[in-house]
Amino acid sequence: MKVQEALFKGINLLKEKHIDEAGLKARILLSSILNLRREELIIKTENELKSKDEEKFFYGIDKISKGYPVEYITHSKEFMKLNFFIDEGVLVPRNDTEILVEEIINICKEEKKREILELCTGSGIIAISLAKYLENVKIIGTDISDKALEIARKNLNNLKQTDKVKLIKSNMFDKIDKKFDIIISNPPYIKTEVIKEYILQYEPQIALDGGNDGLKFYKIIIEEGYKYLRNNGIIALEIGYDQKKEVISIAKQTKKYDNIRCIKDLGGNDRVIIMEYKEV
Ligand code: GLN
Repeated sequence: MKVQEALFKGINLLKEKHIDEAGLKARILLSSILNLRREELIIKTENELKSKDEEKFFYGIDKISKGYPVEYITHSKEFMKLNFFIDEGVLVPRNDTEILVEEIINICKEEKKREILELCTGSGIIAISLAKYLENVKIIGTDISDKALEIARKNLNNLKQTDKVKLIKSNMFDKIDKKFDIIISNPPYIKTEVIKEYILQYEPQIALDGGNDGLKFYKIIIEEGYKYLRNNGIIALEIGYDQKKEVISIAKQTKKYDNIRCIKDLGGNDRVIIMEYKEV
């Protein structure tokens, strides 16, 4: 079978199962199997696929058609133009999260903030991207999951950021005993009852489950966070598209933060909440 034909067949099989971004996912899978960059597939469409590659491709398509993330098959995900290793046991990074990272890069460049704490680091994409794009930063990334820390460590080594980023196993602030300029997090924020019917049943519940109201980790980060911040320090959080009001209200209730603001992602959804700690 030719590359082109396999690709069309694969895409159609995914479309039949109502998998979104069917074309993109099939191309990511096939280019990974053929060890090509995605753009290079276009010039290879007339090439004959080896039967072993064809088998691998349709085996993968079958998994993806059941909702299995293509990134768990290819073990890679591009985030902030960097290539991260991904495997079962961590959330597959979403490109929506890039807006959070970009905002903090801008803030650090303008305000010369240096010491950053990332809670719930998962595969390490946020901490490692910040390290890669900012000079002079010191970052601590934490997670409660050993598997996540193992994957984050691999990314840290692959992307050569071991001098700037340290990983610690910690349940939120438990093992943290110093102050930072910035606390950043994309914590689990899906309501427990919603996860049950969530299509992404292959991703770890621990990375998604924000408790009954989805706000469990925002409460911890905001209510405890200021104790780990220097004056004028910043908390930057990814939120779900419908959580702006609730997260802002948690921040206001503490009376510890000023300049609380929300930033939208490229899809126009509320995505990031930023606040500044003001010592009284
Ligand atoms: N944005 C992810 C989703 O909608 C959830 C990420 C999270 O819980 N932090 O699947």
